[in-house]
Amino acid sequence: MSVQSLLPPAARTLAEAIAEAGGRALLVGGCVRDLVLGIAPKDLDFEVYGLAPARLREVLARFGAVQEVGKRFGVFKLRMDGMDVDVALPRREKKTAPGHKGFAAEPDPFLSPERASSRRDFTINAMMLDPLSGELLDFHGGQRDLQNHVLRHVSPAFVEDPLRPLRGMQFAARFRLSVHPETARLARTMLAEYETLPSARIWEEWRKWAHAPYPDMGLEALKAMGWLLPYPELAALVGCPQEPQWHPEGDVWTHTKIACRRMHEVCAREGIGGAAREALMFAILAHDFGKPATTTRDEKGRIRSPGHAQKSAELAKSFLARIGAPKRLVSLVIPLVAEHLAHMHGKPTPRAVRRLAVRLAPATIALWARLVEADASARPPKPPADPAAPWLALARKLEAEAQKPRPIVQGRMLLALGVAPGPRMGEIIRRAYEAQLDGAFADEEEARKWLVAQGLVPKV
Ligand code: ATP
Ligand code: MG
Repeated sequence: MSVQSLLPPAARTLAEAIAEAGGRALLVGGCVRDLVLGIAPKDLDFEVYGLAPARLREVLARFGAVQEVGKRFGVFKLRMDGMDVDVALPRREKKTAPGHKGFAAEPDPFLSPERASSRRDFTINAMMLDPLSGELLDFHGGQRDLQNHVLRHVSPAFVEDPLRPLRGMQFAARFRLSVHPETARLARTMLAEYETLPSARIWEEWRKWAHAPYPDMGLEALKAMGWLLPYPELAALVGCPQEPQWHPEGDVWTHTKIACRRMHEVCAREGIGGAAREALMFAILAHDFGKPATTTRDEKGRIRSPGHAQKSAELAKSFLARIGAPKRLVSLVIPLVAEHLAHMHGKPTPRAVRRLAVRLAPATIALWARLVEADASARPPKPPADPAAPWLALARKLEAEAQKPRPIVQGRMLLALGVAPGPRMGEIIRRAYEAQLDGAFADEEEARKWLVAQGLVPKV
């Protein structure tokens, strides 16, 4: 599809009004990259050349409410055709202090587009598009880099913002890019500034990683840049050996990368997005975090890692806290990681399925089954496998798929049966729930009979 046909009409309308006033509006940043890739942009960013800020504001006001953010920066926000439109003046940026925020920006309507574009992070994000002529201004070879799947910095000023390597990770994962060696070299010099990044910004990049179709490329980009260093859990996977019989693909790092890719494919197939997808992506990322600390050789010389799932869950918790993941997400990821081998420890009986559902809560067997599938399918040349399928099938029958079984015996019922509130009531509820999980009863009627038979409540 051509760039022009994907261009929202609002882009032309706005550019025409600015041209009439004597300026030039260029689309910039991610929306140009998306257009070049044939993706309809989700929002529009303009840079306007040759107009003073006050004049620009007047022109924009014709299109509705204009919000001005950071007077010094000269950025105007408006909505057109249901899209967020940002209009900025070109600006020079000077580094004034360490860290992601240590910049002073100086708006200058008469800067050249080439100069203005050099403050951007990556060549693929530094292209500009004139919506009136259709001309692509590509001073840094962004189109070539997109075609060749190269993630490349725009200028040596790349080193001034430590967020950029993390941005690079998610761009690599979204657009299947490999880091250019010189970009990787620059990134390595920026590691000391990682500590200055606010965790909310770190999380934003990791969240985008979790929704990207090539998460393995993002991980490889991080490694190429030397940016596994802030993540010792990930760095330790590199070179951690596995038993070739079970893992012919190689070390834990290789397995993890393939598994992340499989996880994306499974999510795409099942239509899993949002928080569920994030939970699965971080669970698969972390599922073997515990292997480096638990890997040994048994008496037959085979490589084993007993107890690694539990260790992985511990490490996942601290890793997720450090990258700023929301608590709700952590509460889903931890039980998924801890239980990722549950299908190996017994047969899928109703009892085992119900108990697994309880251990997984607030995660579910439905999510767990997808995680297990991605893990089992990440051992090439072994074919894909789905060892959780019988567990999921039985859970569906037992309706334990999407939630842990609801306790049938509750306080209300016991009160009606003449049990006084107090510790004994709590004890009965606990015992009844255990029995329910073991299949002793399936509804209130049966539960009442069971309570009577056990002598826990008086005969009614
Ligand atoms: P997304 O699709 O994730 O929104 P994007 O490329 O639009 O990707 P934004 O964070 O929205 O990314 O930023 C818009 C543009 O601003 C980028 O394309 C890039 O040119 C520039 N930019 C944003 N953050 C930085 C940064 N930290 N350093 C340099 N340039 C940046
Ligand atoms: Mg954007």
